[in-house]
Amino acid sequence: MVSENMSKRDYYEVLGVNRDASDEDIKKSYRKLAMKHHPDRNPDDPKAEELFKEAKEAYETLSDPQKRAAYDQYGHAGFDAGASGFGGGFSGGFADAFGDIFGDILGGGMRGRSNVYRGADLQYNLEISLEEAARGTETKLRIPTQESCETCKGSGAKPGTQPATCQTCGGHGQVRMQQGFFSIQQTCPKCHGSGKVITSPCTDCNGSGRVKRHKTLSVKIPVGVDEGDRIRLSGEGEAGVNGGPSGDLYVVIRLKPHPIFHREHNDLHCEMPISFGTAALGGEIEVPTLDGYVKLKIPAETQSGKVMRLRGKGIKGVRSSGHGDILCHLVVETPLNLTDRQKELLTEFDAISQQDKPRHSPKSESWMDKVKSFFAQ
Ligand SMILES: [Zn+2]
Ligand SMILES: [Zn+2]
Repeated sequence: MVSENMSKRDYYEVLGVNRDASDEDIKKSYRKLAMKHHPDRNPDDPKAEELFKEAKEAYETLSDPQKRAAYDQYGHAGFDAGASGFGGGFSGGFADAFGDIFGDILGGGMRGRSNVYRGADLQYNLEISLEEAARGTETKLRIPTQESCETCKGSGAKPGTQPATCQTCGGHGQVRMQQGFFSIQQTCPKCHGSGKVITSPCTDCNGSGRVKRHKTLSVKIPVGVDEGDRIRLSGEGEAGVNGGPSGDLYVVIRLKPHPIFHREHNDLHCEMPISFGTAALGGEIEVPTLDGYVKLKIPAETQSGKVMRLRGKGIKGVRSSGHGDILCHLVVETPLNLTDRQKELLTEFDAISQQDKPRHSPKSESWMDKVKSFFAQ
């Protein structure tokens, strides 16, 4: 018993013909089935009635070139989708939605030849060093791209031949389909809207109108670019389809990690180890910048973690007038591999320091106070 809920049988299977069967074969096969299962010949046989209806439906679709083409492309979904709720203009919206849904399922290339398309935008991730970003640079990119085929001027047709008018839509690029109460206009599934079919494809591009190429582009990277900045090269993206405009190429900046600096906007952060002696007594150290070393005064009694700012030694941003700063995070380094003499001096130093601890180590004193009051609670 064929019920409404069962999945529908393939129309070609119903009629017992191959997918490439001629109109004549389809007609013949249908006539045979219609005679066999006709209700007049099979009174009170619900199964025969179902089979008769099934054959009739299959024939109605496969005998109409437009409907058959749509069925070949979309299967039953091409006719059953009416209930899924569609708004907007019948000509544009629904047809496009169709293409999007089924284009993905049916695989690439299907939508390739629709009307005139703008080429896709391309993205190129360009890794540069912090120094290059700070100073600006010029670089050459080798980019794989699809260009309009020169042999056929992008038409896809072999030179000297002309694309033929599409039989399915009569060159309109649109077909009308009945869906329940609605008559729906949709992009012709045979020619994908162009109204033309290519009978002798160009051999250089296999009829696609586009060829894969590599091109070399020279790109100027402006001073101050940062991670994620995009440089647009207008018209350097993928070639358009059927004479459509090319897409754009976006060069996206990626900064390589730097061994010393960590960039935050236009400021550069770095960690500078200083000796225990310099931290206590003060002194001068050399710190790196992007233009070499500069001297930096360390005040006496500097604590670990203090941040020293070198004004204007950072990066000049693309959209800012001035330079950022360098921020040196000072880290007091505990001395390693001490000699006996050093240990002796430090032991003595520590002993003296204990005599007036609040003066020499105010932080540990206030910390001890906190601990004491915590336990006193
Ligand atoms: Zn070509
Ligand atoms: Zn067509």
